[in-house]
Amino acid sequence: MGDKTETGAGGCLCGAVRFQAAGEPVVTGHCHCSDCRRHNGGPVVTLVIFPADKVRFTVGERKIYQSSPGFGRAFCGQCGTPLTIESEKHDPPNIEFHISTFDDPDAYVPSLHWYHSRRLAWFDVADDLPRYHGLNRDGEEQYRHGAATKGLPGYNFPES
Ligand SMILES: [Zn+2]
Ligand SMILES: [Zn+2]
Repeated sequence: MGDKTETGAGGCLCGAVRFQAAGEPVVTGHCHCSDCRRHNGGPVVTLVIFPADKVRFTVGERKIYQSSPGFGRAFCGQCGTPLTIESEKHDPPNIEFHISTFDDPDAYVPSLHWYHSRRLAWFDVADDLPRYHGLNRDGEEQYRHGAATKGLPGYNFPES
């Protein structure tokens, strides 16, 4: 295990942008919304959310694209790695990191799925985490628990 000071370090593929996040994240989850999927290029993104005041960008400058009012999506202007979603609209403001930009992505474990009902039709994962239609705000009820399909061969998920 790395020592505490190294946990939370990360950066882009080329190393031009580096960051350091301190302490425990607010939450880690999988997002299936179309904006996240398009920004990242994959079928799902996994985001680790920190309060903005716990994050320092230690090397280089990230570029920020405003994907909607108040929401910036940052990337490295040199290698193009998607880095963050940053919102001043949240109280307190937060920064959501794409999990694999961390040097040790295994340090963070997802606990839920956001916008699960917007996932690609063929995409499913064999975990038993709660799935939400949206962002799990304002007491939104999860609409299912566990995989939408029967999961992988050999796994057996209860119907819900
Ligand atoms: Zn880069
Ligand atoms: Zn999203």
